Amino acid sequence: MNDDCIFCKIANHVIESTYVYEDDLVAAFRDMNPAAPTHVLVVPKKHHENIVDDVPAETLAAMVHAVDEVAKAEGISESGFRVITNTGKDADQVVKHLHLHVLGGTFLGEALVTA
Ligand code: 5GP
Ligand code: ZN
Repeated sequence: MNDDCIFCKIANHVIESTYVYEDDLVAAFRDMNPAAPTHVLVVPKKHHENIVDDVPAETLAAMVHAVDEVAKAEGISESGFRVITNTGKDADQVVKHLHLHVLGGTFLGEALVTA
C-alpha cells in the first residue's frame, strides 16, 4: 500500500468507489470519466507501477480472471470488449499504479486510445 497512490487507496477501501468485482488480489471499479458504456479499471491490491513492474504471475492471472468476471457482470462477454493498459510517458499513463481499462458496451472501432 502506497499512501500517496489513489488506486492503492481505492483497491484497499481507504477511499470507496463503485466496485464491479473484487477478490483477495485485485479490485475492479468504474472509471470516474468513462470513455464507453462499460469502462472499468482492474487493479492489483498491491502497488505496481505498470504491467512490467515485477508483477507476480498469480496477480497477473487474477487480473485476467477479473476481466472475465467484469465482462460477465456487464453483459459484454458475447459482444466483445477491449483491454488496454497505458504504460509510461508516450502512452500518457496518468495514474502510476497498474490498471487495465476494460471498455465495451458499444462498437469501439479502430481508435487506439480511449480517454
Ligand atoms: P491512465 O491514463 O493512467 O491509463 O488512466 C487513468 C484513468 O483513471 C482515467 O481514465 C481516469 O478517468 C481514471 N481515474 C483517475 N482517478 C480516478 C479516481 O479517483 N477514481 C476513479 N474511479 N477513476 C479515476
Ligand atoms: Zn498504488
